[in-house]
Amino acid sequence: MVVAGSAALAAPFPNPLRLFTAVGLVVVAKTVTLRLRIGSERFMFAWGEAALVVIFGLVQPAWIPATVMVGVLVSQLLTRASSVKAVYNSAGHGLAAAVAATVAVVGGLGRLTPLTPRIAATVCLAVVGYVALTTVLASGAVAAASGSRFSAVVTRGVGVTTLMLVGNVAVGLLVVSLGITDIRWLVAVPPLLWLLNETYKARLRAVEERRAWQELAAATHRVNLLDRREVLAAALRSASRLFSPDAVEITCLRPACTVIGTPGGELVESGGTAVPESCRNGHLVTRALSGAGEPVGELRLRFQHPVRLRQREHLALSTFADVLGAALQNAAAHAELRDMVERKAYEAAHDPLTGLANRIRLLEYGESALRSLAGPEPASHVALLLMDLNRFKDVNDALGHAAGDQVLQRTAQRLAEAVEPGELLARLGGDEFAVVIPALPAEGASPVEQAAARGRALASTLASPTEVAGVALSMEASVGVVTVPAGTCDMTELLRRADVAMYQAKRSGQVVAGYDASRDAASTDRLALAAELREALQVDDQLVLELQPAVDLATGAPVGAEVLVRWHHPRRGLLLPADFIGVVEQSELVAPFTRYVVDRALRLAASWSEEGLDVPVAVNLSARSLLDRRLPVDIAELLGRHKVAPERLVLEITETVMMTELDVIDDVLAALREIGTQIAVDDFGTGYSSLTFLARFPVHEVKVDRAFVAKMVDSPEARAIVRSTVELARSLNLRTVAEGVETAEQRLALVEMGCDAAQGYHFFAPMPAEKTSRVLWTLVNAAQARGAQVIRLARGAHGD
Ligand code: C2E
Ligand code: CA
Ligand code: CA
Repeated sequence: MVVAGSAALAAPFPNPLRLFTAVGLVVVAKTVTLRLRIGSERFMFAWGEAALVVIFGLVQPAWIPATVMVGVLVSQLLTRASSVKAVYNSAGHGLAAAVAATVAVVGGLGRLTPLTPRIAATVCLAVVGYVALTTVLASGAVAAASGSRFSAVVTRGVGVTTLMLVGNVAVGLLVVSLGITDIRWLVAVPPLLWLLNETYKARLRAVEERRAWQELAAATHRVNLLDRREVLAAALRSASRLFSPDAVEITCLRPACTVIGTPGGELVESGGTAVPESCRNGHLVTRALSGAGEPVGELRLRFQHPVRLRQREHLALSTFADVLGAALQNAAAHAELRDMVERKAYEAAHDPLTGLANRIRLLEYGESALRSLAGPEPASHVALLLMDLNRFKDVNDALGHAAGDQVLQRTAQRLAEAVEPGELLARLGGDEFAVVIPALPAEGASPVEQAAARGRALASTLASPTEVAGVALSMEASVGVVTVPAGTCDMTELLRRADVAMYQAKRSGQVVAGYDASRDAASTDRLALAAELREALQVDDQLVLELQPAVDLATGAPVGAEVLVRWHHPRRGLLLPADFIGVVEQSELVAPFTRYVVDRALRLAASWSEEGLDVPVAVNLSARSLLDRRLPVDIAELLGRHKVAPERLVLEITETVMMTELDVIDDVLAALREIGTQIAVDDFGTGYSSLTFLARFPVHEVKVDRAFVAKMVDSPEARAIVRSTVELARSLNLRTVAEGVETAEQRLALVEMGCDAAQGYHFFAPMPAEKTSRVLWTLVNAAQARGAQVIRLARGAHGD
């Protein structure tokens, strides 16, 4: 003010009319303003620059600061600005006008007419100086008042300001070039300014409108996400861009939460409605959010200053709220679905009481271990440990079910701490727990020993007492252990075997027991096996014959081939006779089973005969099949059907059977002899060892049990038994066949004793049926080459 005043006084007093006009122009320019809000940002455009250019033509530069200052002050008073603001603004504009006037003086600006480019350039420069300073001062004030960054305030709306600046200067220069001829031309200025005003407004709006719709389209696209957090983050960003609020809040109902976004971009998540300090008192615009007709939350826009949304913004806000509501609803539905799927998958695989894996999961895990570890190399062993708590029922009865549950939970916890990575612990139900050990180390102790050691370790973790319902309890468990090479059986079977072993442990009072197939036969699931056997008899590929040739010890020629049946069980894997013959004998399946085996054996014998190979086939008969009077009838029928000479069939009957004194057995054996089949006494020497009964039964062959053959070389008693058997058989004109010959030493000993034939791994292990004919031919040819008699048929049964 001082600068303005002293500058004015230093210059001669101007024409009063011109001075008055100049002040009036400033007042009008500063009062009639264009106000525009873009979002919450209000832009105010005044005509100050145009007025400044004009007053350069009306008064000398020295008077300009004072003119502007007075004009601004009057406009401030007219618009009822506060006195502080009025003084700040008028002083600021005065100062800026002083800068402009200085530029004008330095640029040698005298009269504006005629308007030369040099004069116009000087005027422009002066205006730029003026604008620069007013902008800095105004932005400083705004920044101080709103707490925003100064640079942010300056850059905001800079494009629009520049556009207006150019327009204002152009109008000013036009007015000046007109005004010089007659001051009355100035009447044309207000309409011109009004026109310009409207043009600016329209242009700004159009730009803003386009931006807003593009933004809305982008926003609706952006919130279309499946994750709720992502939807909210995108919505906060989009709402900020769309409506330029000072804060956006979105409250969700299910699950309840509120997120807040501020122009800085940070996402504040809060359980309640914590609104940043800066936005707490302000103007609020809210929209309810709903999806699929249900309320899902609320969208709130906070403005520091009061705002009135225009029609277009209301529309955009509603559209945005609809889209956001639908997106939140979608995200919620998606999350629910995902949770449900996860929960269902978890529940399907876990035990609710202990949180351990359940039976289904155990089977799955074990099955995949059995499959994935199977291989041609020495396959890894998979172990299954089945644990059953001892006297758990007592706990339940004495302390109640809640205590029982607690015991189970403690047990689960302790076992869980004791299992190692890779092992799977499961609760099978009740007080039964199981552990799968997928790959036992190949080195060190045998698989079963390793698994048993793990079983003992697990059981010992349960031993230390724990307090349940005020009582100190120490739990004990019985553990059944089974190991198999991967790929040889399935989990159901493994679990069954572990169960057998576990009961074994319980019965014998041991902590740990390994699976023992021989005990298994006498236990649990004979019924299941019998049912499965019934099915196996209906098909062709489960019960398969292997054959083991017996050779003449003198010539090497084959004297017969014994059928040994194998069960390729679809689930349990390969079963040997020991695994299922017991079941056969105790079921109604003896007759069908014998028929099945004899049928296949005769089919084979027929094919050999066709090839010219006259080697008898031997079939083992169960003790019980000899109680069946239909057996001879069936065998006769099968011999007829396959057109096999009866003497080509050898029926092996155990010594024990022969010693029973049942009439029916005598009758059946007599009938078989009648038909013409050969009869062999199997496992000879294991019975009561009296040879006298041989006189009662007319048989053709005696098979010396492999137990004696095995001990023969070392044990004089075994040797004596074999020797006397051979001698007695010879005296009765019977063929002797030694079983289980494994070494050359045994063979020599047998030759020396005069034993006729032998069978065993030393010659051949049991082999697949289709391989047998080739092997037999080799034996026949080799014997022929040695010039021996090809096949020594039975010497004829005793009594013939
Ligand atoms: P088995 O009649 O004493 O049959 C001989 C067994 O000794 C066979 O066992 C055979 O594989 C085995 N073996 C052969 N050579 C040697 C050797 O050098 N050393 C040793 N240690 N063992 C040898 P597999 O096949 O397990 O048969 C076991 C038993 O099952 C047979 O004993 C037989 O009594 C019975 N069996 C086999 N097939 C049938 C059948 O079709 N019906 C009936 N009822 N029983 C059968
Ligand atoms: Ca046999
Ligand atoms: Ca035998």
